[in-house]
Amino acid sequence: MSISYLETPIEFLKGVGPQRADMLKKELEIFTFHDLLHFFPFRYVDRSKFYKVREVRADLPYIQIRGYISNIELHGDRRTTRMTAVLSDETGSMQLVWFRGFKWLKGLYKPGVEYVVFGKPNIFGRKINLAHPEIEPCTADQLYTTVKMQPVYNSTEKLRARGLDSRGINKLIKTLLPAAVPYIEESLPPRLMSTLKLPGRKETISDIHFPSDELSLKRAVARLKFEELFYIQLSLLRQKLLRLEKSSGHIFSKIGDLFNGFYHDRLSFSLTSAQKRVLKEIRSDTLTGKQMNRLLQGDVGSGKTVVAVMSMLMALDNGYQACLMAPTEILAFQHYESVSTMLQPLGVQMGLLTGSTRSSKRRKMLDELQQGRLQIILGTHALIEDQVQFHCLGIAVIDEQHRFGVAQRARLWEKSQVPPHVLVMTATPIPRTLAMTLYGDLDVSVIDELPPGRKPIKTVHQTDAQRLKVFGFMRDQIQKGRQVYVVYPLIQESEALDLKDLTDGYESIVREFPLPEYAVSIVHGKMRPADKDYEMQRFVNGQTQIMVATTVIEVGIDVPNASVMVIESAERFGLSQLHQLRGRVGRGADQSYCILMTKEQLSNDARKRINVMVASNDGFEIAETDLKLRGPGDIQGTQQSGILDLKMADLTTDEHILKLARKHAREILGEDPDLSLSEHKIISRQLSRLYPEKLFWGRIS
Ligand code: ADP
Ligand code: MG
Repeated sequence: MSISYLETPIEFLKGVGPQRADMLKKELEIFTFHDLLHFFPFRYVDRSKFYKVREVRADLPYIQIRGYISNIELHGDRRTTRMTAVLSDETGSMQLVWFRGFKWLKGLYKPGVEYVVFGKPNIFGRKINLAHPEIEPCTADQLYTTVKMQPVYNSTEKLRARGLDSRGINKLIKTLLPAAVPYIEESLPPRLMSTLKLPGRKETISDIHFPSDELSLKRAVARLKFEELFYIQLSLLRQKLLRLEKSSGHIFSKIGDLFNGFYHDRLSFSLTSAQKRVLKEIRSDTLTGKQMNRLLQGDVGSGKTVVAVMSMLMALDNGYQACLMAPTEILAFQHYESVSTMLQPLGVQMGLLTGSTRSSKRRKMLDELQQGRLQIILGTHALIEDQVQFHCLGIAVIDEQHRFGVAQRARLWEKSQVPPHVLVMTATPIPRTLAMTLYGDLDVSVIDELPPGRKPIKTVHQTDAQRLKVFGFMRDQIQKGRQVYVVYPLIQESEALDLKDLTDGYESIVREFPLPEYAVSIVHGKMRPADKDYEMQRFVNGQTQIMVATTVIEVGIDVPNASVMVIESAERFGLSQLHQLRGRVGRGADQSYCILMTKEQLSNDARKRINVMVASNDGFEIAETDLKLRGPGDIQGTQQSGILDLKMADLTTDEHILKLARKHAREILGEDPDLSLSEHKIISRQLSRLYPEKLFWGRIS
């Protein structure tokens, strides 16, 4: 059988054997012939051309240089550790640099041996170097080859030690390919391939490994990208179809007293037109008899809460319950406070359920919830526990969506016979291409307008040398009655160091802002939750003027009197995180400020991030830049999805392919929703191969 040949375990390939097979499995997750065939080169090098050190410029693509390696040295200070070496040829010398993998590097390169070094030139300071170059001993075939497109495969230090560098992997693929090609099955329907003029799968797989020229490589890449995006879109759209077809949803037929009472009597401002539009979208979703599954995107401060509240009132007016789930206890508590201020005068029965709710109180609340006496429940993850049973849950609102995993949300969803409508709110603006991929089966609403009268936050960049000036500014603002956040990065790998930075910073601030005139709070993830809440509460109540914290305060906290956000080591934060942090100020009537503190020397990317922050207050613009700078894998909240482990496509550059894929997926499903036509057999087979897990086929929300 064809499939079984490609599923042959990798150790049976000539040149592999049990030990190498073990390494391939561990290091690259290559278990079978199929896996090796689908381990694609990540770039191609023109092997016919060698550069001289003297000719290297920073704007060159990946290049190869012949030379000798010397002076391998480890450099380290508190912040960075790196290893450098010198590469020399007869025209000069340049630096090679590594930021990890030192253990393997030591002693790997010998003096007096000529090497071929591949890499992409970078500029660092004023010098050009090659970071994490690939290095191979120079051999005769390398010198005389005319291959213009030599595939380069990712390898690891451990594999290299077993002779499986890029070249070694290349050799294995050369062995496998001719035998395997006949077994490669087509995975796109012929009609689609001919419409789009895409090459067949056999040809594509051969060409991606050993392209005969630029054009055939381009065609192979295009097909693989298309195919990848096509199947993602197809599965997302089909999921949505299934949901609409199979599921029924509660119908909120009337707009009643609570909604109207709130709108006319309790709301102290008029809604922005964006808020109105979103409410209309939700209203019409909840009239269809199908379950709503809607993502609400809106920048920090755009007023999502009131939209959530009014959506919940639609449910209440029709005899249903509602819940609102927040990612942290503090945030759940703040929501509870603000929502109960809005709704208790209307007689709405509300409860707050978190991990620290006392068990007697919890029992009473759960009873009331089950009997339907509690109309709205707010809380944290505690809401998805099994004991939480609703009488009749009409709508579930989930705030700051990216903090919850798909599976967690699915559990909330399963709480009743007829699923509740789901409104997922996020303040992390997601670029369109990402939204289409991540949330392909959700409907998306956008609040693209801030309430009137907001003063844009002024953002400035200061270096550590200007700290005294910054302290002076903080003092000014505090004298005006304002409060100040000072935030430190906390990044897992250097946690201990970071914590030290935070406590050092705290101490210097306490020295600078002494009692009794000033009071300073500190909050970080290593504190006990109760202590954290206590400190947080003191700041919220205005008992302390300065809050020194890690990014634990990033999400949703609302202290309108805080008008200054100082971000320490701002170069170490990602863009969306900086924007989220900045969103903690600018919530009141006063002019607010965000001060980005960095060291003097910045990398190019860090400088770009800082510049964008200074120039723009627009979350969507920032998200687009973030996507361009970092690629989608790093965008907050996407790691968990798995959907974005794209092998070929790049959402920053392949928007047109994504759109094409979505269009064709939609057309095919429009014509054949069950994929039962014989020409679509290929598709349904491929889909179940790609997404065998139930969860993916289940609901996203
Ligand atoms: P976010 O979208 O970040 O959750 P919030 O819902 O917390 O924003 O709203 C931020 C602030 O703006 C709140 O104090 C809220 O009362 C206020 N707000 C919301 N909508 C309006 C509006 N249409 N006009 C004036 N203020 C508004
Ligand atoms: Mg909010």
